[in-house]
Amino acid sequence: MALPPTTSQAIKRGLRGKCPACGEASMLHRYITPLEKCTHCGLAFAPLRADDGPAWATILITGHLSMPFVFWLLEQGIDNTALETLYSILFILLLSTIILPRAKGVFMAIIWMMHVRD
Ligand SMILES: [Zn+2]
Repeated sequence: MALPPTTSQAIKRGLRGKCPACGEASMLHRYITPLEKCTHCGLAFAPLRADDGPAWATILITGHLSMPFVFWLLEQGIDNTALETLYSILFILLLSTIILPRAKGVFMAIIWMMHVRD
């Protein structure tokens, strides 16, 4: 039997949306819905409830990355508030869409690692 992954390995697997135990199968389907169990090693994903953690992390990261983008956008001299607002909203939506499933995978991996060490 293989050794359990290190914390950093499990987090990297979660970041890719893969099972933290084996790193082979996906944990999520339909964007952020967890599968019942790993199709490769059988790890149950249902107990790995991340609740609001991924949304919190997504807001935290997106907020910190969007403000430099907005300031950069204002320096571009577009001179059209509606267009600047549209670009800002699109940037925030794109960033949130990219970060949320990755944050969910990381949270699920961390929760799994906490269970393994019990
Ligand atoms: Zn697995």
